[in-house]
This record gives sequence, structure tokens and C-alpha cells, in this order.
Amino acid sequence: MAALIPVVTVRLWHTDMLGRKTKILSVLLAIFMSVGMLGACAPGNTGGNGDDGTGDDFDYTDLSVRDFVGRKGIVTAASPYAAKAGLDILQAGGNAFDAAVAVSFAISVAEVDASGLGGGGLMIAYNVNTGQSLFYNFREFAPAGVETDYSEYEKISADNACIETAVPTQVAGLLTILEEQGSGNLTKQQIMQPAIDMAADGIVVTPELSLNIKDSTAKILYNGTDVWNVYSDGIEGLYEGDILVQTDLAETLEYVATHTVEEFYTGEIAQKIVEASQAHGGSITMEDMKYASENYPKKSEALTGTYNGYDILTSASPSTGGTMLIEMLNMLECYDGDISALGHNSAEYINLIATVMQLAYGDKEKYMADTSFVDVPLVGLTGKEYAAERFEKYTAGKAYLGTGEGDLPYGNPYPYNGGAAQDYAYGPSGEHTSTTTFSVIDEAGNIVTITQTINNFFGCGIVPEGCGFFLNNEIRDFSYTEGSINEVAPYKQPASYMMPTVILKDGKPYATLGSPGGSRIPAAVLQVVLNMIEFDMDMQTAINQPRVYCYTTTDEPPGTAKLIEIENALKELLPELIALGYDARVYSDNRELDSYFGGVQGIRVEEEGYHGGADPRRDGKALGY
Ligand code: GLU
Repeated sequence: MAALIPVVTVRLWHTDMLGRKTKILSVLLAIFMSVGMLGACAPGNTGGNGDDGTGDDFDYTDLSVRDFVGRKGIVTAASPYAAKAGLDILQAGGNAFDAAVAVSFAISVAEVDASGLGGGGLMIAYNVNTGQSLFYNFREFAPAGVETDYSEYEKISADNACIETAVPTQVAGLLTILEEQGSGNLTKQQIMQPAIDMAADGIVVTPELSLNIKDSTAKILYNGTDVWNVYSDGIEGLYEGDILVQTDLAETLEYVATHTVEEFYTGEIAQKIVEASQAHGGSITMEDMKYASENYPKKSEALTGTYNGYDILTSASPSTGGTMLIEMLNMLECYDGDISALGHNSAEYINLIATVMQLAYGDKEKYMADTSFVDVPLVGLTGKEYAAERFEKYTAGKAYLGTGEGDLPYGNPYPYNGGAAQDYAYGPSGEHTSTTTFSVIDEAGNIVTITQTINNFFGCGIVPEGCGFFLNNEIRDFSYTEGSINEVAPYKQPASYMMPTVILKDGKPYATLGSPGGSRIPAAVLQVVLNMIEFDMDMQTAINQPRVYCYTTTDEPPGTAKLIEIENALKELLPELIALGYDARVYSDNRELDSYFGGVQGIRVEEEGYHGGADPRRDGKALGY
């Protein structure tokens, strides 16, 4: 049985769309503390009939219910406050883009540690009328003077933390989305107001935020007095349930609301970013900032693939996660039999998905990076024939460990690609743990899904003076292996696992989802997609299932047992996985589910309506009407 444990009770202000402030509620944040949450669950709240369908005393911050079925519109995000911001915008006549931008700014306040104005992101959108997809790439890029001597990155400290800071592109991305795709029914100020109010009036420190503050205190204190401005009570004084007021951030957001993209990138905040970068060993200049505003976001259609009759619309370069998802699904299509007959999260099912994970992660490190700079064999990597060749490595009843002398963690997609083969070094890059993702569907049925990040929690730990947001440390997503495809270069974007995704069935929207979690992102998204498609789970149930992660792309000798990490909720499977040949380990034994394995927010179009699901591994919540 699930036990409901109240964690926090506080009072706070709510500001509605017209700027009216009311002291509304006693917020009860609660979490389920048992495996009771892992089973099938009926959808939580349901909306419809023109109102939010939940009654006057509906507490949108109640995390004992994560999901929501909306008949008209739905928002899911890693914070109930951010989800509410998006819902308010939808109900005030905004479209999915307006709402997504509102959520984006709001989550930059609620999860100031995970994403924000000092970072970047990726957006996939689907227009239900035209059937067209859009990919907006506002991922950060390396400044012109980026350090290319890898040994310098080993000496990382407070003094040179900005050596890892890429040029922030978040504001260019969001304001362009609004300008080009917004409904025009609401002003930029209205769309940003929920975020501004959250920063000015304060947000409740959630369990996850409090944990991350505790884990990152040393890094945050790099910044000394600037950070004390951000956290008015001082960092040590912030515990879950406290109110976090971010006055500087509120002012910065107000500045964004009243200035153009160009003004932002040439004005006083850009100047502060440049000063912070240069004071802490970075190289960002005003020219780099201008370059960002003139060249970002980059726009294209989504990267596409298919899986047993479903269309996958996912993130293109510099995302590698999107390419990996298509490759993994292509491999699984070659499975000779009914995947669901293996049994959900049975040892053999895990062996199957762990094998395709390993094969795709190996290809990622060898072949995937920013396609504007390097020659990625994308046709081969996303093709069915290459996947069939790769899938020959799978053996039922036996872990794939590399099958003999000379067996490599990557395949050779060039015969399926056309063009000349390139010889890049195999170059693993680091794993990270931050980021956030959210999705929106509006009344017209249009879908917007965004994943955004400052890379590690609290980025590089540096706040431009008086600005209230953290600068990213995205340079760390390059590979520090000399000659690798993802090697650092001026203006290049570091490869990203982020992969907001939309899935269609019979040409109609089926689901949308994304995840944070660094290198675990493709593994997490794959598992949730399979839970829906192969095991017919509703959105929330699909998210709730425990997950595994099998990376293992090192060039360790063939035959070495491969590390597979599993959530505590799966610990009973350890003996079976070890018997298959894996070096199986429980990642964290004090939480049944752990945010290390991602934080999936998603929406599935189900019979009852748009079913928004939110990950209990983070502070996620879906809200709709
Ligand atoms: N910076 C990472 C990426 O773009 C994401 C970090 C995370 O999700 O934790 O892949």
C-alpha cells in the first residue's frame, strides 16, 4: 500500500492572470513512499466542460496526484507552479507555444538549479492541421575563444568555472518561438508574468530543490555575495518548505519582458554575462552574444523515424538522443517475436533493451555530434538495414558483452549511408544530472514539447552580477578525446542527449514526452515509449515503472561483464541479471525510484482525453482543463 506522507505545509501568494494577488492556500506537498505507486494507476484528476473540472478547493500543488486528463488542454512540467503558469495561459486564450514559453520562464524560477536564462534548450512542435513538425534548436554554442587545450579543463575551480560556459541561447529561443508561433492573443508581459511573480513573491522549496541545494552548496558558494542576493536567506538557511524569493531574477525577467532579443543580447545583461565569464576564466564576448541573437534559434523539421506503424518526430542535431531513439526502435523492430510476451521488466526483456541501449550508446560516442560542423552518417544510423545488422549482436538468454577479439562498442553505418567514411576517434563524454522537460497540448490539438538545461545542477555555479540566474557548464558535453567527432570548436554546439519527442499513430497525435537525466535520457524515453506502445500503459503508469540504464561503451576487453544500473524497485532481479552476464547494480538503495533515471513528463492521447503524466522522480505535475 502506498503511504501518504505530508512533507511541507506553507502559505503563499497566488497571482492570477490579471495580476491580482490572493493568499490562497495552504500548500500540502505530499509524496508516495512505497512501491504502491509503481502499479497501474487510474488517471488522477479530470477536467472538461469548460472549467478546470476540479472544484474550488482543487490544490494544484498536491503531488499525491501527478497526472491529469484534460479534454481541452494540458500541460505537464517538473513543477506544479510552472504547470499552473502554462494552464493559466491556455485558459486565457494562449496557444501551446504561448503556454510553453510561460512554462519555460516559470520553471526557470521554480527549478533555478536546472535550467534558465543562462542555458539553452530544444523544442519539437507538431501542427495538427498541417501535419508539419518544427524543430527549434536553441542549444548553447562554444564561444569564439573557447579553450581547446583539454588539460585546462582538469583544473576546474571557482576561479575558472566559466571555462565550461557556452554562450546562453535560451532567451533568443523563447522570444523567437513567441514571436513566430505565438497566438498574438497575449502580450509577452502577460506570458512572462507568472514567472516574474513567482520570482518576486517566492516559491516553495521542494524536496528535490532542497536536495540539490544541499548537494551543490560548495559550488553555489563559488559566487559569494551574488548568490546571497539570489537566496536572500542564505543558502544554508534553505530547507524544503521554505519560501525562496529571487528578487534579482524577477528584475531580469521583467527586463526580458520589456526588451527585444537584440536588446537582450547587446544590452546590460549581456554585458554582465560577459563580465562574469571573463572574471571566472571563460571567454564569452559581446560579439559571441550578438552572434547568438543573430543565429539562434536554428530551425528545421524534426528528425523522423518509424516503429511498427508509429511515426517518431524527434530532436535533430545537436541532439544525439533523438537519433539514438530511432536507432534503438529500429533494432527492436527486428526482434523476432512479441516483445510484450517477454513480460514487462522481466530479466529477458531487460536484456533485450539493455543490448540495444549499449549498441546505440556506442554509436553515439563514435558518430554523433553537431551536424553543422562534422559529417554524421545520419542516413545509415537511422536506417532499418543498419539496425538489422547491429541487432545481430542480441542473443536471448545472454548479456551482450562484446563477442570476441576486436569487437568494438560501435558499428559501421557507412555502407548504409553513402558518401565517404570518416575516421573520428571514439570519444565518450561526461554524464550529467540536471535539466528539465515539459509538454503542452492546446485546444486546437497542437503539441509543443521543450527540454532545456544549464547542464549540471546550478550550471557552473556562477551568477552574472545581480542577474539571479546561473550560467551553464555545457562545454562539458563536448568530448575531451582528441580527434573525436564531438570535439570542442568555436561556435560548435556540444552534443546533447536532450530529445523532446512527439509520436503519431496512423498520422494522428499519440503521445509527446521528454526527459532530463544526461546520458540516461535516451534510455528513459525508450522505456516509457515501450511501456505505452508494447505494454499499452497509460501515460502515468508508463512513467511510474522502474527503469534500467546500460551505458557500457568503454573499450574494455570483450567478455567483461557490462554494468547495468537498476532502480531499487527492481532489486529482486539482480540475481537473474547477474546470471545473464551483467555486472548488475542497484543505483540508489534509499529511494525506490531515483531522478538519476530521468524525470519524464509526457502526454498521451487517450480515449478520455489528453492524459498528462508527471514523473514522481521529480516534482512533476500535469494540469489541464
Ligand atoms: N547537458 C545534458 C545534455 O544536453 C543534459 C543534462 C541532463 O539532462 O542532466 O545532454
